[in-house]
Amino acid sequence: METLILTTDDNEINKAGKIIMDGGLVAFPTETVYGLGASALSADAAKKIYAAKGRPSDNPLIVHICKKEQIAGVTEEIPETARIVIDKLMPGPVTIILKKKAIVPDAVTAGLDSVAVRFPANKTAQKLINAAGVPVAAPSANLSGKPSPTKAKHVIDDMTGRIDAIINGGDCTVGVESTIIDFTGDVPVILRPGGITIDDLKAIGVDAVIDKNILQSVSADEVPKCPGMKYKHYAPNAEVIVIEGKKAAVQEKIKELLMKEGRIAGVLAMYGAEYDNAVILSAGSSNKEYAKKLFSALREFDELGVAVVFAEFCEEDGYGLAVKNRLYKAAGGNVVHV
Ligand code: AMP
Ligand code: MG
Repeated sequence: METLILTTDDNEINKAGKIIMDGGLVAFPTETVYGLGASALSADAAKKIYAAKGRPSDNPLIVHICKKEQIAGVTEEIPETARIVIDKLMPGPVTIILKKKAIVPDAVTAGLDSVAVRFPANKTAQKLINAAGVPVAAPSANLSGKPSPTKAKHVIDDMTGRIDAIINGGDCTVGVESTIIDFTGDVPVILRPGGITIDDLKAIGVDAVIDKNILQSVSADEVPKCPGMKYKHYAPNAEVIVIEGKKAAVQEKIKELLMKEGRIAGVLAMYGAEYDNAVILSAGSSNKEYAKKLFSALREFDELGVAVVFAEFCEEDGYGLAVKNRLYKAAGGNVVHV
């Protein structure tokens, strides 16, 4: 299949909207990561997403909208706390899970009776959804298991020949996916930490509990609430080892491990730390910067031929929980506490 590379000009976005309307697949930028979109009202179109990504069919897609009124079109009932999130945080990097309407095909929700809904803040994403004329089902636009794409190049690398078009909208500003909040139970539950922090939620009066699986791997016989939790995720070809603790202890431990390491090693380093005999990529000096650089750095280590990556992790404030969740998954739980 030939994959068109489109710009963010209105006429190109309209062309992409028509592709989605006709049942095709278009990758597009959002503020979090690039999404791989298809009509959320077509089971056949949604199935093409799973095939293009190699995604397991039990991992549901997020339905993207461009007007708040569209939420009532795909969901049964909107509880009061969900309404607050819609009013105060949308558009933005947050996804809400609500009971679904029958119009949303099982192929989109992987057979669940709930649906995930997101209103992205990125203008190109909004224009595309508007041009498509339907809500747009979209997971991240990477091959299943790979780090999520935060630059058009990442999507081009993974998806060329597999989808109809890619809109090149530059780099994503947030860099980790949306915060997913489940509103189908008695209390709101955060199923995935992301671009909206727990403090952001507290500030608008929403008290949410954090699902225990956020930092643990799910055992094979357990049914997770968010099916995506169960899979190894965000993983480069290199082995990833997270070194977590106070800054000085983390740096000392990595130096010790580098001395013993025979393979080509990389360090994902905060605060401009210096290491000998390693490929060093910067994770910035705050968790917000770490979030923006993380997925891109994991891909870059592979391009540079790195076999093992030591990733520093020091603080959990702000975007810290979102970063830690992605690091733990990329490392498959391979974490050294110092
Ligand atoms: P992705 O955008 O590739 O990160 O994938 C979407 C994420 O949303 C996956 O982790 C899914 O498991 C999760 N998700 C989508 N719909 C639902 C739902 N109805 N209930 C729980 N999790 C969902
Ligand atoms: Mg994904």
